[in-house]
Amino acid sequence: MTEIRTVLTGLDLLSKATGPHSDEFDTATELAVRAFQQSRGLSVDGRVGAETWRALDAARWRLGARTLYHAVPVPLTGEDVRSLQERLLEMGYDVGRADAIYGIRTSRAVAQFQREVGLAPDGTCGPHTMNALRRLGRKVVGGRPQWLRESDAIRQSGPTLVGRTVVIDPGHGGTDPGVVVPDGPLRWTEADLVHDLASRLEGRLAASGVRVQLTRGPSPETCLPDIDRAQLANSLGADVFISLHIDRHANPAAEGVATYHYGTDNGVTSATGERLAGLVQREIVARTGLRDCRTHAKAWDLLRITRMPAVRVEVGYLTSPTDRERLVDPRFRDKLVEAIVAAVQRMYLPIERDVPTGSIDVSELRAAVAACTVLD
Ligand SMILES: [Zn+2]
Repeated sequence: MTEIRTVLTGLDLLSKATGPHSDEFDTATELAVRAFQQSRGLSVDGRVGAETWRALDAARWRLGARTLYHAVPVPLTGEDVRSLQERLLEMGYDVGRADAIYGIRTSRAVAQFQREVGLAPDGTCGPHTMNALRRLGRKVVGGRPQWLRESDAIRQSGPTLVGRTVVIDPGHGGTDPGVVVPDGPLRWTEADLVHDLASRLEGRLAASGVRVQLTRGPSPETCLPDIDRAQLANSLGADVFISLHIDRHANPAAEGVATYHYGTDNGVTSATGERLAGLVQREIVARTGLRDCRTHAKAWDLLRITRMPAVRVEVGYLTSPTDRERLVDPRFRDKLVEAIVAAVQRMYLPIERDVPTGSIDVSELRAAVAACTVLD
C-alpha cells in the first residue's frame, strides 16, 4: 500500500501531508484512486486491481526518462508515450489517436520526424530524438518542421512568380474518366474537362514566367495513382501543387466549388496549404459565382505526401445542370483559370501588400509585382 501511496503522491493525486503512513488504505488514498480511475476511463471502484495498477505504473513515466520503441508483442505504454504522441500530433505527424501505446503507427511517425530532422529513421525515441524534439519544442507549434521551412521559404522568396515551378494535376485520365455525364449526343467527362483547365492554367502561368509541369497528358494510357502524382511534384521540387477535379453527387441539386488542403481530424493543418486553399477558394467564388462549399482539411495521400503547398480543387459538380452548363463553356473555364492564377500570385504577395479578393487584374499582375519588387 505504501508503494501505491508513493505513486499517487508522485502523480500529485495525493497530498504528501495525508496522515501518517500506514498500511491501512485510508479514505484519502481511496478518493485519490477513484479520481485517477475516473481520469483514465477505468471502472471507478477505489481499489487497485491489476488494471488500475498497470495504469498507475504507466502514468509514472515522464517523456525522456526512458527510451521508447515499438516492442513486440507487448507494446510500451505510458504517459511518456502519450506526451510524445501529442507532441507529434501537434507538429502534424500521423500517430492516430494519442492512446499512450507505442504501436507501429507511432513508431512510423517517429521515423518520419527523424528523417525530416536528419536523424537515422529507426522509429526509436532515444536521447537524440528527444533532443531534437526539445530543440524544436520551443519553436514549432502547430506545424511540421518542413511546413515551417515552407512558410519561411515563401516569405523570403519575394512576390515574383518568375522561375517558380507549379505542378498542375488534372485528376483521373487513362482508364479512369472520373465523373461522366451524357448530354444528348455529347458525353462530358471530368478527365477531359480538368485537362482542358490544366492546359489553360499552364498557358496563363507560363506567360507570368512560371515553369509549369502537368502530371499527365490529355489521353494517357493508364491512370497515375495519387501517390505517384505527389512524388512527381516532390521530385520536380515544385513550389506549388494544384490538383483539379470536378465533383459528382447523386442529387443534381448539389453544386459549388470546394478546396482541400492537408490536415487531420486533430486540427493539425499545413499552414501554407491552408492559406493557398483559402485564396483559391475565395478567388474562384468571387470571380465565377460558383456556390461556396468552403475549404476542408483532408489527410489524402496527394496532400500528405507532397512537400509544398498543395491543394485539390473540386471546381463544381458535373452532375449539377447549373454547374455543368458553366463548366462546358470555355469562357467560364478561362474565368476559373484566372481565379487560380490570382490565388497563386496572392500566395506570394506579402500579407501587408495583399489585395482584396477578386481584385487582381491578372493581365496587370506583372506590373503589380514589378511595383512590389521596386518597393522592396
Ligand atoms: Zn475527381
